[in-house]
Amino acid sequence: MVTFDSFAGDVQDRFHSYKAAALVSIQTQSSKSHFRGTYNSVAKRKIGSIPSVRLTLDDGRKLIHNLPEKMTLKVDTQEEKVTTGHNVIADMKGSDSGHDIIVICAHYDSVWQGPGAFDNGGGTAGIMELARVYKEKGSKYNLRFIAFGGEEMGIWGSKAYVKRLKDKSDKIKKDKHFEKDGLKTEFDYHRFLVNLDMMGHLHGRSCAVTLGDTDIAASVRLFSKEIRYAINVRENEIYSSDNMAFNYAEIPSLSFYRCGFGDLGGHTEMDVIDNCNPAGLAHIGGFVEKWIDRYIQAMHQFPFAKTIPEAGKTAVQKWFGERNPLEYKVEGSEKRYKDKKKKKK
Ligand SMILES: [Zn+2]
Repeated sequence: MVTFDSFAGDVQDRFHSYKAAALVSIQTQSSKSHFRGTYNSVAKRKIGSIPSVRLTLDDGRKLIHNLPEKMTLKVDTQEEKVTTGHNVIADMKGSDSGHDIIVICAHYDSVWQGPGAFDNGGGTAGIMELARVYKEKGSKYNLRFIAFGGEEMGIWGSKAYVKRLKDKSDKIKKDKHFEKDGLKTEFDYHRFLVNLDMMGHLHGRSCAVTLGDTDIAASVRLFSKEIRYAINVRENEIYSSDNMAFNYAEIPSLSFYRCGFGDLGGHTEMDVIDNCNPAGLAHIGGFVEKWIDRYIQAMHQFPFAKTIPEAGKTAVQKWFGERNPLEYKVEGSEKRYKDKKKKKK
């Protein structure tokens, strides 16, 4: 057994020279629960793929103090499985009979570290409430509410959604009967995306990040002053969530989230309902609703140009790396359900 304190310096080379068969790491925080998952990707890149296990601070202390020459670990393992994710989509027809679609989305999946109360139970609750509200008061534009799956594992749900629509669009446009002038596909009609991710945390502050027309950020800033809702606005920046798949396909976005909550964050076992604040969630949800009413529904024409600035396009490309995120095979089928409930006369 050889001990290292970190993977800094020449430790990496020495690690390889020992031809380690396994890696045991020790949690730095005192926590009763054992670490679930794999060692992080940085370590994996540096030392390669070998069996690894992480101990609690208490167990690790005992191990270091006794420094045995040999040790036996009993580890419960779970095999990785290939599974199918699902997006849940609800369409609401707008009253102006146009084709433009405004997508209002949130991912509903979580990570294994925690139940995901605010990341993203909060956002999911937010879009369900917005769907309820607009069903009651109607909408000028077609609204599409989407609860995406597989966000945490690499925005799989939103990538599949965008890819499916874009592939269909590209195919239609190749058809010789498609009249190029003035005709658009369902994909083309995707005008704008509102994304709710990490909502309702008790601590921290509310934030918004835009990618698209500069007027989007300006409208949020102005509106926050008008109705006195404190919100940080970042303009034309990357927000690592489902919006990225849309941004890649040059669909502008506005994402709302909560930040500045210290260790009580998402992707930890602290992401529980006790750290959420229903009143705060209702407050920002109300802000989103009023912003949509004021800057989308009430406008004579859609106020934001469908454009992503060049710097934004480069940043999005860089975020995805060299690979085209939409170049993979989407398996599974698209099922459409019609609301069969008849209205009472
Ligand atoms: Zn999230």
